[in-house]
Amino acid sequence: MAKPPSADREAQTAIASRLAEVGFALPGTLLERRMSCGKPGCRCKADPPRLHGPYHQWTRTIDGKTVTRRLTDEQAVVYGPWFANARRLRALVNELEALSLRIFERAEG
Ligand SMILES: [Zn+2]
Repeated sequence: MAKPPSADREAQTAIASRLAEVGFALPGTLLERRMSCGKPGCRCKADPPRLHGPYHQWTRTIDGKTVTRRLTDEQAVVYGPWFANARRLRALVNELEALSLRIFERAEG
């Protein structure tokens, strides 16, 4: 098997250094949701409805089940970037896998 060309190794090193810059990463998504409640005559039932919120809703899958948890405004400020970090992490892993596949297929046919 031939060694990968230096351009490939440079591309791998570039991905690795970007991976090293990713901070903490939380799984799932953080959404802002507005909701109606069950209280009769509440403003959220008016026409037009004025919904409650926004609430920060963290949704993720655990053992195939969707789990949601509400975060406070303060928690959303602190942990919000961690969800973006997780997306960046996945994008970089995909990039590394695509690069490795190209190298493999070029070398092995
Ligand atoms: Zn309401």
